[in-house]
Amino acid sequence: MFVITEATCQQVVGQQDAFSAVEAVFAAMASGDANNFPVVREAIGYADALYGFKSGFDKAGRVLGVKSGGYWPGNASKGLTNHQSTVFLFDADTGQLDALVGGNYLTAVRTAAASAVSIAHLAREDSEVLGMIGAGHQSAFQLRAAAEQRAFKKVVAWNHHPDMLPALEKVANDVGLPFEAVTQEAVGAQADVIISITSAHQPLLMKDWIKPGTHLACMGTDTKGKQEVDPAILVSAAVFTDEVAQSISIGEAQHAVNAGDLNEDAITPIGAVINKSHQGRRTADDITVFDGTGVGLQDLAVAAVAKRLAIETGLAQVIEL
Ligand code: NAD
Repeated sequence: MFVITEATCQQVVGQQDAFSAVEAVFAAMASGDANNFPVVREAIGYADALYGFKSGFDKAGRVLGVKSGGYWPGNASKGLTNHQSTVFLFDADTGQLDALVGGNYLTAVRTAAASAVSIAHLAREDSEVLGMIGAGHQSAFQLRAAAEQRAFKKVVAWNHHPDMLPALEKVANDVGLPFEAVTQEAVGAQADVIISITSAHQPLLMKDWIKPGTHLACMGTDTKGKQEVDPAILVSAAVFTDEVAQSISIGEAQHAVNAGDLNEDAITPIGAVINKSHQGRRTADDITVFDGTGVGLQDLAVAAVAKRLAIETGLAQVIEL
C-alpha cells in the first residue's frame, strides 16, 4: 500500500493536474461512467466536530475510494487547519486498500479546479475583471486557478472581514494582477467573472448589482442553510453544477428550489458541457452560474493523480498492511 503525505501532495500536484483530473471526472459523471455515493456527515457530539465520508467510483478512470474527515472548529488554536481529511483509495478489482493520501491540500486544489473548469467552459472569452467575494483559506487557491483561465486585467474583491483582504491582494499581485478592495455592489458592477467562497448564510450579492454576461462560480455553499447570492440570480441565469442532487439540497440552488422558483430540471451538470452534449453559454449576455457543491469523486480524482505522480517521482512511501 502507498502512503502519500500532505507534503508530497503539495510537492507533486499542480493546478493544471487538478484541473485535468476534475474536468475528466465531471465529464465521466455526466456520461454515467462515474457515480458519487450518498454522503455521510454527522455531528459527533465531541470537540464540536462534524465528521463524515464522501465516496464514489469512477469506472472510466478505475478510481474507487472514500474521503473521510470533517471540521474541527478548535483546530486553529492548535495550529492546525479546521478542515481535516484523508483519502483512502481501493483497488477496484480486488477491494484491497491501495493508497492513503493526505486530503487537506487536495481539497483546496480540487475546489479551485472545479470553479476554474466552470470558468473555462462558461465564462465569456473576453472577460477582463475577476471578482472575489471571500478571502479565507480557499480564496487564494481559487484566485490562482481562475487567473489561468482568462486574460484578466484586474481583481476586485470584497470580504466580510476586510482585514483578510491584504493576503488575497498578495496572491493577485503574485500572479501579475492589480487588486482593488471594493464594495459588494462594485464587485457586481465591474466583474465579468465572480467567485464566491465564504461561509455566509445570507446573500452577499444581489441580482441588480451584476452585469449581463457575468459568470458566477458559487463555491462556498456546501451545506443546508448556507447562502452566498440572491436566489433571483439563479432564477434568471443558466445554472450548472457538479451534481444536481447536491445542488438542490446543499448547494446555492437549494434556496431558489425550496422557494419553488427554480426547477431541478433547469440545472445542468457541467460535465454535459464538457462532453459537448449541452452548449453551455448561449449568448454573450447570458448570466451563467456554476453551483460548486464539492463531490467525493473530485477528491478521489486528485488523490489518484497524487498517487501516480508520487510513484513517478519516487516520493510515495510503501508499507505492508
Ligand atoms: P475560511 O474559514 O478560511 O474563510 C471563511 C470566509 O468566509 C472568509 O472570507 C470570511 O470572511 C467569510 N465569512 C465568514 N463569516 C461570514 C459571514 N457571516 N458573512 C460573509 N462572509 C463570511 O474558510 P475556507 O476554507 O476559505 O472556506 C470557505 C467556504 O467554502 C466554507 O463555507 C467551506 O465550507 C466552503 N468550501 C466549499 C467547498 C466546495 O467544494 N464547494 C470546498 C471547500 C470549502
